Amino acid sequence: MKVLVTGGAGFLGSHLCERLLSQGNDVICLDNFFTGSKSNIRHLLDNPYFEVIRHDVVDPIKLEADRIYNLACPASPVHYQYNPIKTIKTSVLGAINVLGLAKRTKARILQASTSEVYGDPDVHPQVEEYRGNVNPIGLRSCYDEGKRCAESLFFNYYREHGTDIRVIRIFNTYGPRMDPRDGRVVSNFIVQALKGEDITVFGDGSQTRSFCYVDDLVNGMMGIMEQTQSVGPLNLGNPGEFTILELAEKVLAKIGGKSKLVFQPLPEDDPLQRKPNIDKVKSIIGWEPKVNLEEGLDRTIAYFRDQLK
Ligand code: NAD
Ligand code: UDP
Repeated sequence: MKVLVTGGAGFLGSHLCERLLSQGNDVICLDNFFTGSKSNIRHLLDNPYFEVIRHDVVDPIKLEADRIYNLACPASPVHYQYNPIKTIKTSVLGAINVLGLAKRTKARILQASTSEVYGDPDVHPQVEEYRGNVNPIGLRSCYDEGKRCAESLFFNYYREHGTDIRVIRIFNTYGPRMDPRDGRVVSNFIVQALKGEDITVFGDGSQTRSFCYVDDLVNGMMGIMEQTQSVGPLNLGNPGEFTILELAEKVLAKIGGKSKLVFQPLPEDDPLQRKPNIDKVKSIIGWEPKVNLEEGLDRTIAYFRDQLK
């Protein structure tokens, strides 16, 4: 199949492109290289079935495809808050453009939505029916509300035009090729510990997250794309729940060295708890994560150790 991956040079996108190519697909990676990089996809450039297009999803584009994975959007708070208006345009205009493309080509199209649509959740663990607790005017809203609007657009194209959509809500995912400068917690802690720098815990570290290893996530994403039972939204993540303090301690215990924990103010609207209920995806495609946090951290630490050589 001809598969278009927007945001294909990013952390998740590059793993997805790699997997799609290994299954014999023709892959078009479309990216504006805002947070993605050529180094993430350099190893794929010699593959004759791989094509890269430098393009911004905010602008329309005419391409042919059988499948579209829409991943283009900065995902870390540091990067999506860098130019919040652009972040909204990327989610909203980007969705309109790729949905237009799907409508014209009759491609099946998957939206990479996020657990952030639940905001700071007062239902725990988060089920897909929960409508969320998002501050519509806060610093995170450019991302949360942009993604919520994109979900609305996907479902409106589905209802109005019969577009063949899939919507997944991705919970915190980590692994090799995370950008060490984008401020996400797993990469921050590992890189800080490897460099012997202080580990920056925001707030008192009692807030929780559930961390999914990238290979599991990509398996789930492709499984949801190819099933025909549900258009979603479907949660995708690892239900193991850890406080940020526990994560810091695990990373420190694995890496050792002289780093100390330092506590910094909790960013505005930082969700206090997050854990996916994955019953739906489990019952539809039998998916559940296979890599636990210990093993995933070991693999990710090995990657960053190599990068920092
Ligand atoms: P990332 O920042 O590594 O990747 C995003 C990619 O999109 C980058 O390559 C970037 O250059 C590209 N991009 C950004 N704006 C663009 C634009 N206007 N036009 C074209 N390309 C653009 O982030 P990621 O972690 O790989 O996330 C991929 C997708 O998954 C995002 O949509 C994100 O919201 C979603 N997601 C990720 C996570 C996670 O934990 N990694 C969690 C929830 C949702
Ligand atoms: N965090 C932290 N130290 C850091 C980076 C992040 O304590 O150096 C915290 C952050 O406040 C949040 C959690 O870790 O509570 C996850 O942050 P991340 O930016 O990775 O993802 P998100 O907040 O979008 O879930």
